[in-house]
Amino acid sequence: MELVFATNNPHKLTEIRQLLKERFVVKSLADIGYFEEIPEDYHSLEENASQKAWTIYNRYGIDCFADDTGLEVEALGGEPGVFSARYAGPGNNADDNIAKLLSRLAEIKNRKARFRTVISLVAEGKEWLFEGIVEGTILTEKWGNNGFGYDPVFCPAGFTSSFAEMDLDTKNKISHRGRAFEKLVSYLMTRR
Ligand code: IMP
Repeated sequence: MELVFATNNPHKLTEIRQLLKERFVVKSLADIGYFEEIPEDYHSLEENASQKAWTIYNRYGIDCFADDTGLEVEALGGEPGVFSARYAGPGNNADDNIAKLLSRLAEIKNRKARFRTVISLVAEGKEWLFEGIVEGTILTEKWGNNGFGYDPVFCPAGFTSSFAEMDLDTKNKISHRGRAFEKLVSYLMTRR
């Protein structure tokens, strides 16, 4: 069975291809010749994931899934959430986003946060949503060099190290995206 993953992120593609083994052929946006910016016009993870999956399904008629992730910080009312990638503004990088987050939390004791991933699967004209969450806390400084995004300042609950201090296998087992992918994979296996 063939599926498009509406992403060109090579790390995400490797991860999902590994989980789906030989049972599904997972194509990237580049594989199907889609080289435009994929629209993400909404203010929720659900709507953005959904928009991405439907955009590809409607254009190519191939079953498709898409993901969207945000870091939701309790004391900031769920910020940066859907704006996680561009928290410090357009043209800024992960370090700038982290600096803004740490400064917002400077005087705040409640450091609770979670990563949340939503996956939309559109197949044969119908849609399913899958959610993965990892709870944790925001550290007061950066720990570790692995990973990307907010990994150096996120410590998952039950651990004493940040995501950026873990190897990828360990992170994937407990991460938001890992958990959402697991749900997607379990569902896809029932369709075979
Ligand atoms: P995306 O929807 O997967 O592109 O994620 C949006 C943004 O959330 C990224 O640009 C990162 O800033 C942040 N993010 C998503 N997943 C992770 C993660 O696993 N670790 C750290 N930051 C992440």
